[in-house]
Amino acid sequence: MVMSAIRDILGHIEIQTALAARKCSHRPKKHVIMKGQVHLAVIENQSRKNYCVLCAADILARAENKLLSIKQGLAPVLSRLGEVPSLRGGRPLSQSTHATACEPPSS
Ligand SMILES: [Zn+2]
Repeated sequence: MVMSAIRDILGHIEIQTALAARKCSHRPKKHVIMKGQVHLAVIENQSRKNYCVLCAADILARAENKLLSIKQGLAPVLSRLGEVPSLRGGRPLSQSTHATACEPPSS
């Protein structure tokens, strides 16, 4: 119930199976996506770009790093707030266990 209200900002990225041979948008002269092959599709402005699994791995790794750095940028602010869902009008968390549970293990 609560999860469905959270916006999916990655909605324009999906895994598709090629119905026909496609060119990889990242290296169109070198990479070909064969018919039936799984690949990454990025939909932007109603046009779709297809990336082969090799390029998709790079693209996703880059996106992952970006998400991580954004999360790390938010983390200190969140830990100062203590309670995450209170901004959304939900019930406030009485314990501070939520913030610590999200943090990576300190080493
Ligand atoms: Zn490629």
